[in-house]
Amino acid sequence: MTTTVAAYAAPAAKAPLERTTIERRTVREFDVLIDIEFAGICHSDIHQAREGWGEAIFPMVPGHEIAGVVSEVGPGVTRFAVGDRVGVGCLVDSCRECDNCKAGQEQYCTGGSVGTYNAVGKDGEPTYGGYAQNIVVDENFVVRIPDGLALDVAAPLLCAGITTYSPLKRWNAGPGKKVAVLGMGGLGHMAVKIAHALGAEVTVLSQSLRKKDDGLKLGADHYYATSDEKTFQDLRGSFDLILSTVSAPLDFNAYLSLLKAEGALVNVGAPEEPISLNLFSVIGGGKTLAGSMIGGIAETQEMLDFCAEHGLGAEIELIAAQEINDAYERVLASDVRYRFVIDTSTI
Ligand SMILES: [Zn+2]
Ligand SMILES: [Zn+2]
Repeated sequence: MTTTVAAYAAPAAKAPLERTTIERRTVREFDVLIDIEFAGICHSDIHQAREGWGEAIFPMVPGHEIAGVVSEVGPGVTRFAVGDRVGVGCLVDSCRECDNCKAGQEQYCTGGSVGTYNAVGKDGEPTYGGYAQNIVVDENFVVRIPDGLALDVAAPLLCAGITTYSPLKRWNAGPGKKVAVLGMGGLGHMAVKIAHALGAEVTVLSQSLRKKDDGLKLGADHYYATSDEKTFQDLRGSFDLILSTVSAPLDFNAYLSLLKAEGALVNVGAPEEPISLNLFSVIGGGKTLAGSMIGGIAETQEMLDFCAEHGLGAEIELIAAQEINDAYERVLASDVRYRFVIDTSTI
């Protein structure tokens, strides 16, 4: 059984998104029906809608930064009730049995996790994301948005927030630690806020000084332009942790030189092309080059609670659904401060 729902979809790779309808399953035993109020636009929506990461499923309804209100629950649901403010991020299911799932790392499920869109669910049906009026999700993949967070600024936390919070926690960003955030976009601006709230000394490394005032206002202590060669001389050996949020190709050897001995450069951006690395860049100084992908469901809840406690929402530009295609172009041009969020009532 399904119900018909209005949505914005890409009908084919690289085609503009347009208004359409999709079928959502009716609520099953452990499902929650969420009336979506806001959906963030993540750079990865564009990668996938344009097949930058490989073959994709069309029509595609992107959107994995979803905030809304529960409007129906299945008979087996225990964690949510009608009227609850909730969010859904990048995953809507996983095997729940592998070591990673049992450890709360559903994002690294070896039995096959299910993406919120551009994936096929265990029922064999394609998944459709948040650029829609509602979504049906198993309660185990739904998180609670605390009252202190407005839903529009909370939506981007479901991807940009957890993607930066998880590695900052894992690599011990906190008091006494010097943390550099590479890139000052949707992910980067959240990394600055979260690293600052965790107590770290935060430096932004951005292409230019164009967003310097914003960066300092959001919690950065220092701000440098990577287009200036002097930055790499001045900051050599400076950081305990560099979090790269950049999805364009980078000179990783140059950035590794900015780490202290045994420091770590953690990558959450996802360039479409392989990188070139001189391994002496990590051998000298015993450095770590690492990756991190979103975070588990329990950690996503922890992140939302942390953000509510510290008053951290995303900086957003709220748009109508009709502006999605223009917004995509502006994201590609790095012309957004700092996350587009779709008011889904306009769909
Ligand atoms: Zn995302
Ligand atoms: Zn699993």
